[in-house]
Amino acid sequence: MRSERQIVDYALQRRSLLAAVRAGRVRVAQVCDADPYLLRAAKFHGRATDVACPVCRKEQLTHVSWVFGEKLGSVSGSARTPDEITRMSGTEEEFTVHVVEVCRTCRWNHLVQSYALGRPPQPKRTRGSRPPDRRTAIE
Ligand SMILES: [Zn+2]
Repeated sequence: MRSERQIVDYALQRRSLLAAVRAGRVRVAQVCDADPYLLRAAKFHGRATDVACPVCRKEQLTHVSWVFGEKLGSVSGSARTPDEITRMSGTEEEFTVHVVEVCRTCRWNHLVQSYALGRPPQPKRTRGSRPPDRRTAIE
């Protein structure tokens, strides 16, 4: 089962950045700067969308999901397919997913959304049967 938590949407930032590009306050080269690693990730791990690139309008954007998490080890910071992420959400402790949209033609890229998945971190002190007697120590 997959249930996204702590969802953060970056549509507002995206819109204001695009407005700045159209107004000439930000150069296209500054926002269309996807590096080869991101373009490669888009090719192999990306998911096609039906949203046209807002900059060049020549092709549809690809969404790439990057996973981050202390417990993920070397997997942290890598791009994963939707299937892999669904599988991870059932087996891994909490991790964060950052979804980035990429245009493989003009190299426009922007963060779309971030969310948390996986098993919530276990609360500490679940082992002992008795709660610690901290209150008496404070009083
Ligand atoms: Zn484009």
